Order: sequence, then structure tokens, then C-alpha cells
Amino acid sequence: MQLKTILNRVQKHRSFVYGATYLVGQTQPALEVEVRARANSRPRCSVCKRSGPGYDTLPTRRFEFVPLWGMRVFFLYAMRRVACTRCGVRVETVPWAQGKHQLTDRYAWFLATWAKRLSWQEVAEVFHTTWEKVFRSVEMAVEWGRRQQELSGIEAIGIDEIQWQRGHRYLTLVYQIDERCRRLLWVGQERKAKTLLRFFRWFGTERSLALKFICSDMWQPYLKVVAKKASQALHILDRFHIMAKMSKAIDEVRAAEAKELKAKGYEPVLTNTRWLLLKRPENLSQKQEPRLAELLQYNLRTVRAYLLKEDFQFFWSYVSPYWAGEFLDRWCTRTLRSRLAPMKKIARSLREHRPLLLNWFRAKGTLSSGTVEGFNNKAKLTLRKAYGFRTYRAMEIALYHTLGALPEPEFTHRFC
Ligand SMILES: [Zn+2]
Repeated sequence: MQLKTILNRVQKHRSFVYGATYLVGQTQPALEVEVRARANSRPRCSVCKRSGPGYDTLPTRRFEFVPLWGMRVFFLYAMRRVACTRCGVRVETVPWAQGKHQLTDRYAWFLATWAKRLSWQEVAEVFHTTWEKVFRSVEMAVEWGRRQQELSGIEAIGIDEIQWQRGHRYLTLVYQIDERCRRLLWVGQERKAKTLLRFFRWFGTERSLALKFICSDMWQPYLKVVAKKASQALHILDRFHIMAKMSKAIDEVRAAEAKELKAKGYEPVLTNTRWLLLKRPENLSQKQEPRLAELLQYNLRTVRAYLLKEDFQFFWSYVSPYWAGEFLDRWCTRTLRSRLAPMKKIARSLREHRPLLLNWFRAKGTLSSGTVEGFNNKAKLTLRKAYGFRTYRAMEIALYHTLGALPEPEFTHRFC
């Protein structure tokens, strides 16, 4: 069987035919396949896509295709120029590659598919290509998918922020969190009001006004923009963000107290207790359980903060917004008397956002609390895996690629 036969099976073009195949290179063998335009076929203008009379032929170009038997495969083709009646003299368009790209579309999709399973650097190593080419392929796949994606019928979104570049800068991420479809919709730099306004501008007024639920944390710029752009939606402050804030407050209390105890020369009871205090008690290991029990016997500020947080977990188990509200008021009063500054700060902001907090109970059953948290973890993992992402653009593309659930074209043959 000839290689030509296989190529015609996996990727056939109407107006072009495969010609001779050559094995070239000694140390790194590669396959080169000649491609010719069918006799009498007229080139198509790359601007208006209409066919026209040929003008001249350019020198032969190499287009990289999906590798075979560990060897790189190239199409050799001399592009023609068209004397287009509308656009003038233009290079023709070919069905296997875009514009000036050296990679065929199929190869770019092939690399992009692997880039969902491996890091970009690993994909480049495995297929003997460069990081840059893998990035361009993923970028192509993301741009294609975002042009094709369906945005109708979105009822629930979650807004989240994430730190990047060693924690100095933020990204705003917006997810669709409907039961039937969960995906990353949008990424923006910073976490300002301006950032979220950009999301709503992209999303469009009609779709924004069709939203029923919006989940976010207590970040003021977000609250302001949501109230302005989608006031009809039930705005919910979600559990994940609130509990994450409490964990941060406990950590502050613990760090300050540990330092103080050390300075006063006391026994270092708080050493290595960070995770004991941040985990839910039911998630502690067998070794950690008795350690936590011992720690809780001390009358420490850290312990008091921890107990306040654990007590607050009870809030989420209410069914009625009314009784949840009563509990919230009692908890805030008690915490404001605690003399634990970081916890008091949380109590004050919970009190301030009481109606939005109680919306959680009004939406109960319709939204899963774990969705935004799950996405947040996956997004962090993507950023961590991506040590090559020095630019914002590369990071944005990686997030859309892994979390966007973007559509892909249908091919007659799948390479991977
Ligand atoms: Zn034209």
C-alpha cells in the first residue's frame, strides 16, 4: 500500500492530489509528500475565497503534518497566486493550512489535543517540535472554539478571582454553573469593576438580563457591577469564598499568636498546626485528630478563632432564610465581642452583606456549592502546571483550553 492511499483515506482534498513521497534526512528521518493542484483546477483567492485565473507560482513551501512512525511528515506545495478580479493579485488559499502557518490545521489540532493531557513543554518534547508551535496550536484551537461556542440559555454564572505571578496580580474568571453545562466562559486581567464590566460587555445585554443566578464573593467591585448589569438575577455570596476568607483570618490569628508566644519564650504549641486548623474536622487524618483535640484545650486566640469558624459551618445547614438570618446575627454579635481583629472584620462584612448571604438559602437546591470551588482548584492546577506561561496571553489560552469545554471541528479521521 502506498502512503498516498493512507493520506487519501485520512485527509482527502477535492482540488489537490498527493504525489511522490520521499524519505529524507539521516539522523532525523522525515517524510516529504508532494502535493499538486489537480489539472485544470483554478486557485482560490485567500481574501474573498473565489476562484480566479492563475497569475504565477511561488517557491515550494513545507507544511508539517501529523507524524508517522516517529517521523515528521511534511507536505511540499508550491502556492499559486491568483489574479483575482475583486482583490488583485493574491496568494491562493489551501484547505490544509491557514495563511502563513507552517503547521497544517490537522497537525495543530493534534498538538492541541495532546496539550490537554500533557504540559505544553512535554508535548513539544514528545513530538519534536517547539513550545512556541504548541502554543500557537492551542491558541488556534481556542480561537476556533470560542468563535463556534453556543452561548444561549445560560442561567447561572459564578465569578471567581485567582492570583497569578507569585500572588501580585489577579485574574477574574467567569464560569457557567448551570446543572447541564459547566465551563469557563471568560477570563480577564485584574479584579476591578472595569474587569467585570468587560465581561458583561462581551456577554451582551440580552444574555446578561436572562441570568437567574450569580455567585460571587464579597469583593465590592464585583457586587457593584452585578447590581448594575444584572440586577434581576439572584446574587448569591457563595459558601466556598466565605469559608476561604475565614480560613485566611484564622491563619492570620495563628501566625501572630505563634510569633508572640515565641517572643515570650512559651512552649511552641502552635508549631505545625496550620493544616489542623484549616481542614474540616472530618477530613483530619488519624494522627491529626488527637493533635487537634490537644490543641483545643489551650485557651489560645487561635483556638477561639477556630471554634468560631467551625460554629459558622452550621449556618449552611439551615433550610429557612429566616432562621439562617437569626443564626447569622447571633454569630456576628458573638464574633464582634471576641477581640479577634481578623474575625471581627469578617463578621462586619457578613453583616453588611446579609441579604446577599441569605440568597444562598433562596437558591438552595438549584446551585451546587462545589462548582466554583472545583473550577478554582482546576484553574490553579493549570497555572501551576504551566511554568512556561510568562505572558498573560499564554495563560489565558491555557485556561480556556482546559476549562472552556470548547467545541472542536468534526474530522473524518481522528489521529488521537
Ligand atoms: Zn479575491
